[in-house]
Amino acid sequence: MNTNAMEQPVVIVGAGFYGAVMAERFASAGRRVLVLDKRPHVGGNSWSRPDPDTGVEEHVYGPHIFHTSDETVWEYANRFTTFNGYRHTVWARRRGKIYPLPFGLAAINLLLGRSMGPAEARAWVAEEVAREGISEPRNLEEKALSLVGRTLYDAFVKEYTEKHWGRPATELPAYIITRLPLRWTFDTNYYSSRRQGIPTDGYGAWFHRMLAHPNIELRLSTDYFDVRGTLPAGAPLIYTGPIDRFFGYKHGRLGWRSVRWEKEVKDTPDWQGTSVINECDGSVPCTRVYEYAHFTPERRFERTIVHREYSFAPGPDDDTFYPVGTPEDAAILAKYRAEAAATCPGTVFGGRLGRYSYWDMDKAIAVALADYQKLASGAPGGIRE
Ligand SMILES: Cc1cc2nc3c(=O)[nH]c(=O)nc-3n(C[C@H](O)[C@H](O)[C@H](O)COP(=O)(O)OP(=O)(O)OC[C@H]3O[C@@H](n4cnc5c(N)ncnc54)[C@H](O)[C@@H]3O)c2cc1C
Repeated sequence: MNTNAMEQPVVIVGAGFYGAVMAERFASAGRRVLVLDKRPHVGGNSWSRPDPDTGVEEHVYGPHIFHTSDETVWEYANRFTTFNGYRHTVWARRRGKIYPLPFGLAAINLLLGRSMGPAEARAWVAEEVAREGISEPRNLEEKALSLVGRTLYDAFVKEYTEKHWGRPATELPAYIITRLPLRWTFDTNYYSSRRQGIPTDGYGAWFHRMLAHPNIELRLSTDYFDVRGTLPAGAPLIYTGPIDRFFGYKHGRLGWRSVRWEKEVKDTPDWQGTSVINECDGSVPCTRVYEYAHFTPERRFERTIVHREYSFAPGPDDDTFYPVGTPEDAAILAKYRAEAAATCPGTVFGGRLGRYSYWDMDKAIAVALADYQKLASGAPGGIRE
């Protein structure tokens, strides 16, 4: 950043993890920072707050479990929050029965009605996989079959995935399925990260502490595109909104999948006995059912909140959540990145929307910390890979 730019506040669009970490880092280094977010709250999709009706900590944009094996990220997070001892499990409902995920000895044995140990289960999966004979998977279905075989794929992956993404698994890119690991134990922990938990007083409180720096000015309910002409001229810009929106969609729209939630308050302290149940049957319209009270077993509530999650194809005004990432999307993205490099090399495109990437929270924090280091050390140009 040049000398003139150094006198200006850093303008950050978006108060999710990427934007908030950047804001905190620049402010702590003595820079003035202006953070804009079009939503009426900080925290982006990770935001949570106590539900005014029940007191349950509600994750307003779906369940967020913090987990990481990155000690730098863990240490950074612990400057602003403590975590409770929650350990995440996910259960799957299929044809009226309940199974633990990810695929491990419990799910496999329950599905097959057997009692296999690790060696036998490995051999069974290897046989299932070999039967498919897929060495170079070209799409999600082939990738899943090459990893777990037909029986597990048909039971737990196919209908759930097609419901979530709204298209046949044969038309989805293969990379998506790497998020379903296989285990040869009865361990039902969903994550294998070294660190895990839910912020003790919620994500909202965590974000407020990160952003409570005298150098940070926060403007909520403010869309960047409504005010961009009024912002300080020459101020450095970190933009964490959708990259295609930044350029007025001139090269086309990137593919996204969105989710919405139906909320219900149940007049009981515990309704489903766990935080997350995946609905694997294609005939059930929702994909997941959440009960947030289970994230904070240290707190007691008289009533509980349930969210049912539904996937849909977003319209122009809807929030976007999961990048689809087809080859057509990759071609469009390449055009926007080239345009960014040519026309606004000093602008940083960050976060999951600016980079068009699915990132967990720890990744958003890790990338923001790394990008900040590059900017602070005077790396030329914007950062966009
Ligand atoms: C349903 C769901 C569940 C998830 N669960 C987990 C989980 O369990 N664990 C985990 O680690 N991760 C989870 N994630 C991922 C997590 O949400 C992301 O890693 C995180 O939100 C990324 O932060 P970000 O700053 O990149 O983006 P965001 O949180 O999306 O923040 C971007 C911000 O930019 C703002 N913005 C956009 N355009 C404009 C504009 N024009 N003007 C002003 N503001 C603008 C938005 O309002 C938003 O606040 C989940 C994601 C989803 C969708």
